[in-house]
Amino acid sequence: MTNIVLFGPPGAGKGTQAEVLKEKYKLVHISTGDVFRYNIKNKTELGTLAKSYMDKGHLVPDTVTIDMLQAEVKKNSDANGFIFDGFPRTEAQAEALSNLMEQMDSQINAMVALEVEDEVLVKRLLERGKSSGRADDANENVIRERIAEYYRKTDILKAYYQKQDKYYGVNGVGSIDEITQRLSEVVDTL
Ligand code: AMP
Repeated sequence: MTNIVLFGPPGAGKGTQAEVLKEKYKLVHISTGDVFRYNIKNKTELGTLAKSYMDKGHLVPDTVTIDMLQAEVKKNSDANGFIFDGFPRTEAQAEALSNLMEQMDSQINAMVALEVEDEVLVKRLLERGKSSGRADDANENVIRERIAEYYRKTDILKAYYQKQDKYYGVNGVGSIDEITQRLSEVVDTL
């Protein structure tokens, strides 16, 4: 199995690139944000809970997120490998992911991070908000809070994977094709 954590702040392009890479490398793409939005759309209990955090630009609590991620992985136990998009976002989530991979006699092979400057992120997300229909893209304060939450809780995961020699930073500015090319150069070495 090849298991990749596609990493970066909100608006870095994780979702766009995961869609391309999952086809190219025949991996299952799991986006925790997408699973939360699916639950919100279907008005589940999980959706209602997640929405109360997402609308403020805050992270959904770890226990809820970890249980959901585990269920998604287990639904795809015959996968060739996974691209995790938007997970892990805290150290507790990274530990849970490591344990889950171990249970499957596997591991995370790499964290590949899309590096993009904050002001570019804000511009991209405001632009996306014109068509995404996402409440959290529609308001600049919420966008800035999501980026702040990233620095408070998520950015430390770079060091977490660096310690394991699994961190690869990639320039996240350019055309979609250029960025796919940069990511592929990393994935091809795994
Ligand atoms: P995303 O689609 O990755 O931008 O995520 C949208 C929102 O969903 C985030 O701002 C969080 O509120 C929530 N979310 C997604 N993934 C996670 C996660 N791994 N941990 C906690 N909250 C998450």
